[in-house]
Amino acid sequence: MRPFDYHRADTRQDAVAAVSTGATIIAGGTNLLDLMKLEVMAPPTLVDITRLEMRGFTETEDGGLRIGALVTNADLAAHPRVRKDYPVLSMALLAGASGQLRNKATTGGNLLQRTRCYYFYDKATPCNKRDPGAGCAAIGGANRMHAILGASRSCIATHPSDMAVAMQALEAVVEVEGPEGSRQIPLLAFHRLPGDTPHIETELKAGEMIVAVRLPAPTRSNQTYRKVRDRSSYAFALVSIAAVVGIENGRIARARLAFGGLAHKPWRDPAVEALLEGEVPTSRLFEKAADLLLAEAEGQGENDFKIPLARRTLKATLAEVMDEHA
Ligand SMILES: Cc1cc2nc3c(=O)[nH]c(=O)nc-3n(C[C@H](O)[C@H](O)[C@H](O)COP(=O)(O)OP(=O)(O)OC[C@H]3O[C@@H](n4cnc5c(N)ncnc54)[C@H](O)[C@@H]3O)c2cc1C
Ligand code: SF4
Repeated sequence: MRPFDYHRADTRQDAVAAVSTGATIIAGGTNLLDLMKLEVMAPPTLVDITRLEMRGFTETEDGGLRIGALVTNADLAAHPRVRKDYPVLSMALLAGASGQLRNKATTGGNLLQRTRCYYFYDKATPCNKRDPGAGCAAIGGANRMHAILGASRSCIATHPSDMAVAMQALEAVVEVEGPEGSRQIPLLAFHRLPGDTPHIETELKAGEMIVAVRLPAPTRSNQTYRKVRDRSSYAFALVSIAAVVGIENGRIARARLAFGGLAHKPWRDPAVEALLEGEVPTSRLFEKAADLLLAEAEGQGENDFKIPLARRTLKATLAEVMDEHA
């Protein structure tokens, strides 16, 4: 690890000022420190935000929940309001990492964790995300974990977060603070697709930090999180699905679906949701939803299996949430 300066922020303004002059935020450190040890990231200055007042939960005026950026993944999964009204979020968090990691990992850090592409971590190989313009070793290389949707010729990496997939299905909004003040970014628009600039991963502007995530008021729904992975714990998703589905009078009144392991961002396809809404749930309908979701899917060789896997996982997940309504 290379030497770096360390600064502990006492106030949010202090943190924003440090980030605005190029400092990198450290929260739980569970991703950043690994990357620094491998010299994939070599920030000259760290600003530690862990003493800031961002560990709380607040009920919002519209009946939703505001989650501070420093709430740990363990506390978020265990929060009574989350378990009761947003169980898909609890399930997704508990499907990720390990107990020790969840005790340190934070809400803001989880949203901003970097891809688990092997080549991104291996400085001996070309990677456009680590070193813009260098090329992409995963294309034509070992790409079993890589994207089948929304990838580009510059990068085929996936986003690794389970939490963000559930938050996507819950239509979360990210609250950020920067030199220009505060603003809110719907999670749907927060993470970017790789395009020609895979090193620019989010819509955060220079100097901005995440201060909270807002969940809207809960809807009448059944919720589930299904994660398919190489072993039953302590592994990132090959395919994961967060489903938040409401049924009224035997028809699908509202469907919110988000997918992990398939794309550079937690993937949501409003056209698939629109296809389901208003319809009577049948296996034929689920098949059509999978057709639409995967119409543009493209494998890279080793990850071709993700296309049929995503199809089967979507159909099984929809059958599960519909059954719960029966
Ligand atoms: C062995 C292992 C297994 C794992 N398994 C899983 C898994 O199965 N599923 C899963 O979802 N995750 C998994 N993780 C990832 C883990 O969830 C993340 O490392 C963690 O959520 C990151 O949070 P953190 O607070 O430690 O972030 P840090 O490491 O402190 O920071 C991560 C990034 O976010 C930035 N950052 C942090 N907070 C803010 C903020 N408030 N505003 C702006 N920028 C900020 C930092 O600058 C840094 O770039 C695993 C990690 C490990 C090490
Ligand atoms: S897929 Fe993206 S992260 Fe992986 S090597 Fe290619 S450019 Fe780098």
